[in-house]
Amino acid sequence: MSFTLPELPYSYDALEPHYDARTVEIHHSKHHATYVAKLNAAAEAAGVSDKSLEDILTSLDAIDESKRTPVRNHAGGVWNHTFFWESLAPNGGGEPSGSVASAINDSFGSFAEFKEAFSAKAANHFGSGWAWLVVNKDGKLEITDSHDQVCPLSLGQKPLLTIDVWEHAYYLKFQNVRPDWIAAFWNLVDWDNVEKRFSA
Ligand code: MN
Repeated sequence: MSFTLPELPYSYDALEPHYDARTVEIHHSKHHATYVAKLNAAAEAAGVSDKSLEDILTSLDAIDESKRTPVRNHAGGVWNHTFFWESLAPNGGGEPSGSVASAINDSFGSFAEFKEAFSAKAANHFGSGWAWLVVNKDGKLEITDSHDQVCPLSLGQKPLLTIDVWEHAYYLKFQNVRPDWIAAFWNLVDWDNVEKRFSA
């Protein structure tokens, strides 16, 4: 079995004008695709090609230490990007509703306070990585960040929402202005999907 690049759930230009088609296309067809190709090689070398991505990411310690790093990096790279694309929708944005909205209000005071804290975490993350909304090990909502391609599944967390803050995600359109990439993100968040993840 080999891992394959999942299709985007929308066309490359579907996130315009917030996220431009060329950036989305390169991000998916080059960056995301490269993680898939390198995962296949790393998983083969580590003897875990027959496992699911989730199994690999939740049991990295089972992999021989000398083979583990490339598996962790590329399995995370594949999973995190798929999860990111599925966090966005052409008609996304607005505010959450349902049980996740209540949980956000309970945890952060209000949606506005959550949005500010998540944006700050994403803007202040040093270097390459991701900002996340997760359900942590204590069952509480938490805003976190992870370096490189570390996946919350490997930390025993349940991810609900993420933004990619690697420069490759935004540099073509936004150059060095990561906060504008983050501001545009709020027009695209697929809150229905976040609610499904929370309720699952
Ligand atoms: Mn990326």
